[in-house]
Amino acid sequence: MGCEFYQFFLNTKVLFQPGISRDFSNELAQLSARRFLLVCDPFFVQSGVADAIRAGMEAGGAAVVGCFHDVPPNSEVEVVRACARMAVETGAEGMVVLGGGSAMDTAKAANIVFSLGGDLVADYSGSQTIPRALKPLIAIPTTAGTGSEVTSAAVIFDQASQRKLSFNDAFLRPQLALLDPELTLSVPPKATAMTGMDALTHAIEAYTSVQKNPMSDALAAQAIPKITRFLPVAVARGDDLEARSELLIASNMAGIAFDHAMVGVVHAMSHATGGIAHVPHGLANSIFLPFGMEYNLEIAADRYAEIAPLLGMKTSGLDGPAAARAAIQAVRELRAGLKQACGLPDRLREAGVQEGQLDEIAQTAVEDGASFFNPREVAYEEVLAKIREAY
Ligand code: NAD
Repeated sequence: MGCEFYQFFLNTKVLFQPGISRDFSNELAQLSARRFLLVCDPFFVQSGVADAIRAGMEAGGAAVVGCFHDVPPNSEVEVVRACARMAVETGAEGMVVLGGGSAMDTAKAANIVFSLGGDLVADYSGSQTIPRALKPLIAIPTTAGTGSEVTSAAVIFDQASQRKLSFNDAFLRPQLALLDPELTLSVPPKATAMTGMDALTHAIEAYTSVQKNPMSDALAAQAIPKITRFLPVAVARGDDLEARSELLIASNMAGIAFDHAMVGVVHAMSHATGGIAHVPHGLANSIFLPFGMEYNLEIAADRYAEIAPLLGMKTSGLDGPAAARAAIQAVRELRAGLKQACGLPDRLREAGVQEGQLDEIAQTAVEDGASFFNPREVAYEEVLAKIREAY
Protein backbone atom coordinates (compact mmCIF):
# COMPACT_ATOMS: atom_id res chain seq x y z
CA MET A 1 0.00 0.00 0.00
CA GLY A 2 1.51 3.32 -1.11
CA CYS A 3 -0.10 5.94 1.08
CA GLU A 4 -2.14 5.33 4.23
CA PHE A 5 -2.91 8.89 5.29
CA TYR A 6 -2.43 12.44 4.09
CA GLN A 7 -3.99 15.85 4.50
CA PHE A 8 -3.91 18.72 2.04
CA PHE A 9 -4.87 22.26 2.97
CA LEU A 10 -4.14 25.58 1.28
CA ASN A 11 -5.49 28.72 2.91
CA THR A 12 -3.99 31.04 0.27
CA LYS A 13 -6.07 32.19 -2.70
CA VAL A 14 -3.84 32.11 -5.80
CA LEU A 15 -4.46 34.23 -8.93
CA PHE A 16 -2.34 34.11 -12.07
CA GLN A 17 -2.51 36.73 -14.85
CA PRO A 18 0.04 38.94 -16.59
CA GLY A 19 -0.49 42.46 -15.20
CA ILE A 20 -2.68 41.36 -12.25
CA SER A 21 -0.48 43.19 -9.75
CA ARG A 22 -1.58 46.56 -11.19
CA ASP A 23 -5.29 45.93 -10.66
CA PHE A 24 -6.75 43.50 -8.16
CA SER A 25 -9.50 45.73 -6.78
CA ASN A 26 -12.05 42.86 -6.75
CA GLU A 27 -9.78 40.94 -4.43
CA LEU A 28 -9.03 43.95 -2.23
CA ALA A 29 -12.76 44.48 -1.69
CA GLN A 30 -12.99 41.04 -0.10
CA LEU A 31 -10.28 41.64 2.52
CA SER A 32 -10.98 43.00 6.00
CA ALA A 33 -8.03 45.46 5.82
CA ARG A 34 -8.11 48.84 4.02
CA ARG A 35 -4.78 50.34 5.15
CA PHE A 36 -1.69 48.47 3.95
CA LEU A 37 2.04 48.68 4.56
CA LEU A 38 3.88 47.96 1.30
CA VAL A 39 6.99 45.82 1.92
CA CYS A 40 9.27 45.56 -1.08
CA ASP A 41 12.63 44.74 -2.50
CA PRO A 42 14.59 48.02 -3.04
CA PHE A 43 14.82 47.24 -6.77
CA PHE A 44 11.10 47.96 -7.16
CA VAL A 45 11.30 51.42 -5.62
CA GLN A 46 13.99 52.45 -8.13
CA SER A 47 12.21 50.82 -11.08
CA GLY A 48 8.90 52.55 -10.32
CA VAL A 49 6.97 49.26 -10.00
CA ALA A 50 6.20 49.93 -6.32
CA ASP A 51 4.49 53.20 -7.34
CA ALA A 52 2.39 51.37 -9.95
CA ILE A 53 1.24 48.83 -7.33
CA ARG A 54 0.45 51.63 -4.89
CA ALA A 55 -1.55 53.53 -7.55
CA GLY A 56 -3.50 50.39 -8.46
CA MET A 57 -4.34 49.66 -4.83
CA GLU A 58 -5.41 53.24 -4.16
CA ALA A 59 -7.61 53.20 -7.27
CA GLY A 60 -9.16 50.04 -5.80
CA GLY A 61 -10.11 51.85 -2.59
CA ALA A 62 -7.21 50.80 -0.34
CA ALA A 63 -4.64 53.11 1.25
CA VAL A 64 -0.90 52.39 1.16
CA VAL A 65 0.17 54.02 4.43
CA GLY A 66 3.91 53.42 4.15
CA CYS A 67 6.63 51.60 2.24
CA PHE A 68 9.29 49.45 3.93
CA HIS A 69 12.02 48.77 1.38
CA ASP A 70 15.14 48.04 3.47
CA VAL A 71 15.07 44.32 2.67
CA PRO A 72 18.50 42.73 2.06
CA PRO A 73 18.95 39.37 0.31
CA ASN A 74 18.63 36.67 3.02
CA SER A 75 16.70 38.91 5.40
CA GLU A 76 17.65 39.34 9.06
CA VAL A 77 15.89 39.39 12.42
CA GLU A 78 16.55 43.13 12.99
CA VAL A 79 15.10 43.95 9.54
CA VAL A 80 11.96 42.00 10.40
CA ARG A 81 11.64 43.85 13.71
CA ALA A 82 12.00 47.23 11.95
CA CYS A 83 9.36 46.22 9.40
CA ALA A 84 6.90 45.20 12.15
CA ARG A 85 7.53 48.52 13.97
CA MET A 86 6.77 50.48 10.80
CA ALA A 87 3.50 48.57 10.33
CA VAL A 88 2.43 49.53 13.87
CA GLU A 89 3.60 53.17 13.58
CA THR A 90 1.81 53.77 10.27
CA GLY A 91 -1.49 52.36 11.56
CA ALA A 92 -1.58 49.66 8.89
CA GLU A 93 -4.26 46.97 9.04
CA GLY A 94 -2.48 44.55 6.72
CA MET A 95 0.58 44.17 4.48
CA VAL A 96 1.28 43.73 0.80
CA VAL A 97 4.71 42.40 -0.15
CA LEU A 98 6.40 42.71 -3.54
CA GLY A 99 9.67 40.85 -4.05
CA GLY A 100 11.52 37.56 -3.96
CA GLY A 101 11.76 35.16 -1.05
CA SER A 102 13.76 37.63 1.05
CA ALA A 103 11.03 40.30 0.94
CA MET A 104 8.19 37.79 1.30
CA ASP A 105 9.79 36.07 4.29
CA THR A 106 10.47 39.48 5.88
CA ALA A 107 6.80 40.43 5.58
CA LYS A 108 5.57 37.01 6.72
CA ALA A 109 7.75 37.09 9.84
CA ALA A 110 7.01 40.78 10.54
CA ASN A 111 3.30 40.04 10.30
CA ILE A 112 3.60 37.71 13.31
CA VAL A 113 4.89 40.43 15.63
CA PHE A 114 2.71 43.10 14.01
CA SER A 115 -0.41 40.96 14.59
CA LEU A 116 0.36 39.36 17.94
CA GLY A 117 3.11 41.41 19.65
CA GLY A 118 5.86 39.59 21.56
CA ASP A 119 9.44 38.78 20.56
CA LEU A 120 10.09 37.32 17.12
CA VAL A 121 12.86 34.89 18.11
CA ALA A 122 11.98 33.98 21.70
CA ASP A 123 8.24 33.57 21.14
CA TYR A 124 7.82 32.40 17.56
CA SER A 125 10.90 30.68 16.05
CA GLY A 126 10.33 26.99 15.34
CA SER A 127 7.14 25.17 14.41
CA GLN A 128 3.48 25.63 15.35
CA THR A 129 4.13 28.66 17.55
CA ILE A 130 1.39 30.97 16.22
CA PRO A 131 -1.85 30.73 18.24
CA ARG A 132 -4.30 32.40 15.84
CA ALA A 133 -4.79 33.97 12.40
CA LEU A 134 -2.57 36.95 11.52
CA LYS A 135 -3.54 40.20 9.77
CA PRO A 136 -4.17 40.05 6.00
CA LEU A 137 -1.03 39.62 3.91
CA ILE A 138 -0.96 39.84 0.10
CA ALA A 139 2.16 38.32 -1.52
CA ILE A 140 3.32 39.27 -5.02
CA PRO A 141 6.40 37.17 -5.93
CA THR A 142 8.92 38.72 -8.32
CA THR A 143 11.23 35.71 -8.63
CA ALA A 144 10.19 32.24 -9.82
CA GLY A 145 11.90 30.26 -7.10
CA THR A 146 10.93 30.07 -3.47
CA GLY A 147 7.15 29.59 -3.62
CA SER A 148 7.07 31.56 -0.36
CA GLU A 149 3.80 33.20 -1.52
CA VAL A 150 2.03 29.94 -0.61
CA THR A 151 4.21 28.31 2.03
CA SER A 152 3.80 28.12 5.79
CA ALA A 153 7.49 28.96 6.29
CA ALA A 154 9.72 32.01 6.68
CA VAL A 155 13.50 31.73 6.87
CA ILE A 156 15.35 34.61 8.56
CA PHE A 157 19.06 35.04 9.38
CA ASP A 158 19.83 35.68 13.04
CA GLN A 159 23.00 37.73 13.62
CA ALA A 160 23.10 36.72 17.29
CA SER A 161 23.36 32.98 16.65
CA GLN A 162 24.78 33.29 13.09
CA ARG A 163 22.09 30.81 11.94
CA LYS A 164 19.09 30.91 9.62
CA LEU A 165 16.03 30.55 11.83
CA SER A 166 12.91 28.98 10.46
CA PHE A 167 9.34 29.82 11.36
CA ASN A 168 6.74 27.22 10.38
CA ASP A 169 3.03 27.54 10.88
CA ALA A 170 -0.03 27.35 8.59
CA PHE A 171 -1.01 30.85 9.83
CA LEU A 172 2.11 32.18 8.03
CA ARG A 173 0.62 31.53 4.61
CA PRO A 174 -0.41 34.79 2.92
CA GLN A 175 -4.15 35.26 2.44
CA LEU A 176 -3.72 36.14 -1.24
CA ALA A 177 -0.94 35.38 -3.76
CA LEU A 178 -0.84 37.26 -7.07
CA LEU A 179 1.27 35.61 -9.77
CA ASP A 180 2.16 38.32 -12.28
CA PRO A 181 4.87 37.03 -14.66
CA GLU A 182 5.47 40.54 -16.06
CA LEU A 183 7.19 41.36 -12.76
CA THR A 184 9.76 38.60 -13.31
CA LEU A 185 10.86 39.82 -16.77
CA SER A 186 13.56 41.97 -15.17
CA VAL A 187 15.28 39.20 -13.14
CA PRO A 188 18.89 39.03 -14.44
CA PRO A 189 20.05 35.73 -16.04
CA LYS A 190 22.09 34.42 -13.09
CA ALA A 191 19.35 35.21 -10.55
CA THR A 192 16.84 33.56 -12.90
CA ALA A 193 19.02 30.44 -12.96
CA MET A 194 19.52 30.33 -9.17
CA THR A 195 15.85 30.84 -8.35
CA GLY A 196 14.72 28.37 -11.01
CA MET A 197 17.06 25.72 -9.61
CA ASP A 198 15.60 26.46 -6.17
CA ALA A 199 12.13 25.62 -7.52
CA LEU A 200 13.44 22.45 -9.18
CA THR A 201 15.02 21.38 -5.88
CA HIS A 202 11.69 21.94 -4.10
CA ALA A 203 9.92 19.72 -6.62
CA ILE A 204 12.51 16.91 -6.62
CA GLU A 205 12.92 16.84 -2.83
CA ALA A 206 9.13 16.96 -2.33
CA TYR A 207 8.82 13.99 -4.70
CA THR A 208 11.25 11.90 -2.63
CA SER A 209 10.47 13.12 0.91
CA VAL A 210 9.21 10.70 3.56
CA GLN A 211 6.12 12.95 3.88
CA LYS A 212 5.17 12.97 0.17
CA ASN A 213 1.53 12.37 -0.70
CA PRO A 214 -0.52 12.03 -3.91
CA MET A 215 -1.25 15.80 -4.07
CA SER A 216 2.36 16.88 -3.55
CA ASP A 217 3.44 14.25 -6.11
CA ALA A 218 0.99 15.63 -8.70
CA LEU A 219 2.20 19.21 -8.24
CA ALA A 220 5.90 18.29 -8.19
CA ALA A 221 5.50 16.12 -11.29
CA GLN A 222 3.93 19.06 -13.16
CA ALA A 223 6.57 21.52 -12.01
CA ILE A 224 9.65 19.46 -12.99
CA PRO A 225 9.12 19.39 -16.80
CA LYS A 226 8.08 23.06 -16.88
CA ILE A 227 11.32 24.10 -15.16
CA THR A 228 13.45 21.74 -17.24
CA ARG A 229 12.02 23.15 -20.46
CA PHE A 230 11.60 26.84 -19.67
CA LEU A 231 14.48 27.70 -17.32
CA PRO A 232 17.12 27.70 -20.09
CA VAL A 233 14.75 29.78 -22.25
CA ALA A 234 14.20 32.44 -19.54
CA VAL A 235 17.96 32.61 -18.85
CA ALA A 236 18.69 33.11 -22.54
CA ARG A 237 15.76 35.46 -23.28
CA GLY A 238 14.63 37.25 -20.14
CA ASP A 239 11.74 38.97 -21.95
CA ASP A 240 10.06 35.70 -23.01
CA LEU A 241 6.69 36.03 -21.27
CA GLU A 242 5.67 32.42 -21.94
CA ALA A 243 8.83 31.07 -20.29
CA ARG A 244 8.47 33.50 -17.37
CA SER A 245 4.80 32.52 -16.93
CA GLU A 246 5.52 28.78 -16.95
CA LEU A 247 8.37 29.22 -14.46
CA LEU A 248 6.25 31.31 -12.07
CA ILE A 249 3.46 28.71 -12.19
CA ALA A 250 5.99 25.89 -11.70
CA SER A 251 7.62 27.63 -8.77
CA ASN A 252 4.18 28.12 -7.18
CA MET A 253 3.30 24.43 -7.72
CA ALA A 254 6.65 23.30 -6.31
CA GLY A 255 6.08 25.61 -3.32
CA ILE A 256 2.71 24.01 -2.54
CA ALA A 257 4.27 20.55 -3.05
CA PHE A 258 7.16 21.03 -0.65
CA ASP A 259 5.03 22.91 1.86
CA HIS A 260 3.07 19.67 2.27
CA ALA A 261 5.78 17.06 1.65
CA MET A 262 8.74 19.00 3.10
CA VAL A 263 12.29 18.83 1.68
CA GLY A 264 15.45 16.86 2.48
CA VAL A 265 19.22 16.63 2.57
CA VAL A 266 19.81 19.19 -0.22
CA HIS A 267 17.95 21.84 1.77
CA ALA A 268 19.63 20.77 5.00
CA MET A 269 23.04 21.40 3.38
CA SER A 270 21.83 24.64 1.76
CA HIS A 271 20.38 26.09 4.96
CA ALA A 272 23.70 25.37 6.69
CA THR A 273 25.72 26.88 3.84
CA GLY A 274 23.50 29.97 3.74
CA GLY A 275 23.93 30.57 7.46
CA ILE A 276 27.66 29.83 7.68
CA ALA A 277 29.00 31.05 4.32
CA HIS A 278 26.15 33.36 3.16
CA VAL A 279 25.67 31.60 -0.17
CA PRO A 280 22.28 32.56 -1.72
CA HIS A 281 19.68 29.88 -1.09
CA GLY A 282 18.93 29.05 -4.73
CA LEU A 283 22.61 28.83 -5.62
CA ALA A 284 23.35 26.52 -2.69
CA ASN A 285 20.45 24.27 -3.73
CA SER A 286 21.68 24.23 -7.31
CA ILE A 287 25.19 23.22 -6.25
CA PHE A 288 24.02 20.51 -3.85
CA LEU A 289 21.12 19.04 -5.87
CA PRO A 290 22.98 16.28 -7.81
CA PHE A 291 25.13 15.43 -4.77
CA GLY A 292 22.05 15.14 -2.53
CA MET A 293 20.35 12.95 -5.16
CA GLU A 294 23.42 10.69 -5.19
CA TYR A 295 23.29 10.55 -1.40
CA ASN A 296 19.72 9.21 -1.67
CA LEU A 297 20.25 7.17 -4.83
CA GLU A 298 19.93 3.68 -3.41
CA ILE A 299 16.90 4.33 -1.26
CA ALA A 300 15.05 6.64 -3.68
CA ALA A 301 16.00 4.92 -6.96
CA ASP A 302 12.38 4.12 -7.90
CA ARG A 303 11.32 7.75 -7.48
CA TYR A 304 14.30 9.08 -9.43
CA ALA A 305 13.53 6.61 -12.22
CA GLU A 306 9.99 8.08 -12.37
CA ILE A 307 11.20 11.65 -12.69
CA ALA A 308 13.99 11.00 -15.22
CA PRO A 309 11.54 11.36 -18.18
CA LEU A 310 10.10 14.52 -16.57
CA LEU A 311 13.65 15.87 -16.64
CA GLY A 312 13.75 15.17 -20.38
CA MET A 313 15.65 11.85 -20.34
CA LYS A 314 14.75 8.89 -22.56
CA THR A 315 14.56 5.89 -20.26
CA SER A 316 13.05 3.17 -22.46
CA GLY A 317 15.35 0.15 -22.36
CA LEU A 318 17.02 1.28 -19.12
CA ASP A 319 16.60 -0.76 -15.94
CA GLY A 320 15.47 1.01 -12.73
CA PRO A 321 18.92 1.93 -11.34
CA ALA A 322 20.10 3.20 -14.74
CA ALA A 323 16.96 5.33 -15.12
CA ALA A 324 17.52 6.73 -11.62
CA ARG A 325 21.08 7.66 -12.53
CA ALA A 326 19.73 9.29 -15.69
CA ALA A 327 17.71 11.70 -13.51
CA ILE A 328 20.90 12.81 -11.76
CA GLN A 329 22.65 13.11 -15.12
CA ALA A 330 19.79 15.32 -16.37
CA VAL A 331 20.24 17.68 -13.41
CA ARG A 332 23.99 17.85 -14.09
CA GLU A 333 23.36 18.64 -17.76
CA LEU A 334 20.84 21.36 -16.88
CA ARG A 335 23.37 22.95 -14.50
CA ALA A 336 26.15 22.69 -17.09
CA GLY A 337 23.95 24.53 -19.61
CA LEU A 338 23.20 27.25 -17.06
CA LYS A 339 26.89 27.57 -16.19
CA GLN A 340 27.70 28.09 -19.84
CA ALA A 341 24.80 30.52 -20.38
CA CYS A 342 25.23 32.76 -17.34
CA GLY A 343 28.18 31.57 -15.23
CA LEU A 344 26.09 29.80 -12.58
CA PRO A 345 28.67 28.25 -10.18
CA ASP A 346 28.46 24.48 -9.73
CA ARG A 347 30.98 24.10 -6.90
CA LEU A 348 31.03 25.52 -3.36
CA ARG A 349 34.55 26.90 -3.88
CA GLU A 350 33.23 29.03 -6.76
CA ALA A 351 30.48 30.37 -4.48
CA GLY A 352 32.92 31.74 -1.89
CA VAL A 353 32.82 28.86 0.63
CA GLN A 354 36.11 28.20 2.48
CA GLU A 355 37.35 24.62 2.86
CA GLY A 356 37.65 25.18 6.62
CA GLN A 357 33.86 25.72 6.81
CA LEU A 358 32.87 22.30 5.45
CA ASP A 359 32.90 20.42 8.78
CA GLU A 360 30.63 23.00 10.40
CA ILE A 361 28.30 22.93 7.38
CA ALA A 362 28.00 19.13 7.71
CA GLN A 363 27.36 19.30 11.45
CA THR A 364 24.72 22.00 11.02
CA ALA A 365 23.06 20.09 8.14
CA VAL A 366 22.65 16.99 10.31
CA GLU A 367 20.75 19.09 12.88
CA ASP A 368 18.63 20.96 10.29
CA GLY A 369 14.87 20.25 10.34
CA ALA A 370 14.87 19.30 6.64
CA SER A 371 17.06 16.27 7.43
CA PHE A 372 14.20 14.60 9.26
CA PHE A 373 12.17 14.34 6.05
CA ASN A 374 14.98 12.95 3.91
CA PRO A 375 14.42 9.36 2.72
CA ARG A 376 17.86 8.32 4.01
CA GLU A 377 19.20 9.19 7.46
CA VAL A 378 21.44 12.26 7.27
CA ALA A 379 24.62 11.07 8.99
CA TYR A 380 27.61 13.32 9.64
CA GLU A 381 30.46 11.34 7.99
CA GLU A 382 28.47 10.46 4.86
CA VAL A 383 27.05 13.94 4.37
CA LEU A 384 30.47 15.51 4.94
CA ALA A 385 31.83 13.30 2.14
CA LYS A 386 29.16 14.65 -0.24
CA ILE A 387 29.82 18.25 0.85
CA ARG A 388 33.53 17.70 0.14
CA GLU A 389 32.64 16.42 -3.34
CA ALA A 390 30.46 19.51 -3.90
CA TYR A 391 33.37 21.72 -2.84
P1 NAD B 1 15.84 37.30 -3.19
O1 NAD B 1 14.49 37.65 -2.75
O2 NAD B 1 16.94 37.40 -2.17
O3 NAD B 1 16.23 38.14 -4.46
C1 NAD B 1 17.48 37.92 -5.11
C2 NAD B 1 17.93 39.16 -5.86
O4 NAD B 1 17.05 39.37 -6.96
C3 NAD B 1 17.86 40.43 -5.01
O5 NAD B 1 19.03 41.17 -5.25
C4 NAD B 1 16.63 41.15 -5.52
O6 NAD B 1 16.78 42.55 -5.42
C5 NAD B 1 16.58 40.72 -6.97
N1 NAD B 1 15.25 40.69 -7.57
C6 NAD B 1 14.12 40.11 -7.08
N2 NAD B 1 13.11 40.20 -7.97
C7 NAD B 1 13.62 40.89 -9.04
C8 NAD B 1 13.07 41.29 -10.29
N3 NAD B 1 11.82 40.97 -10.64
N4 NAD B 1 13.87 41.98 -11.14
C9 NAD B 1 15.15 42.25 -10.83
N5 NAD B 1 15.73 41.87 -9.66
C10 NAD B 1 14.97 41.20 -8.79
O7 NAD B 1 15.90 35.81 -3.79
P2 NAD B 1 14.92 34.58 -3.69
O8 NAD B 1 15.69 33.44 -4.17
O9 NAD B 1 13.61 34.87 -4.28
O10 NAD B 1 14.67 34.41 -2.10
C11 NAD B 1 15.67 33.88 -1.27
C12 NAD B 1 15.20 33.86 0.18
O11 NAD B 1 14.00 33.09 0.27
C13 NAD B 1 16.19 33.23 1.13
O12 NAD B 1 16.25 33.96 2.31
C14 NAD B 1 15.61 31.84 1.37
O13 NAD B 1 16.00 31.31 2.62
C15 NAD B 1 14.13 32.14 1.32
N6 NAD B 1 13.25 31.01 1.02
C16 NAD B 1 12.06 30.94 1.63
C17 NAD B 1 11.19 29.90 1.37
C18 NAD B 1 9.87 29.85 2.07
O14 NAD B 1 9.08 28.92 1.86
N7 NAD B 1 9.55 30.81 2.89
C19 NAD B 1 11.53 28.91 0.45
C20 NAD B 1 12.75 29.00 -0.19
C21 NAD B 1 13.62 30.07 0.09
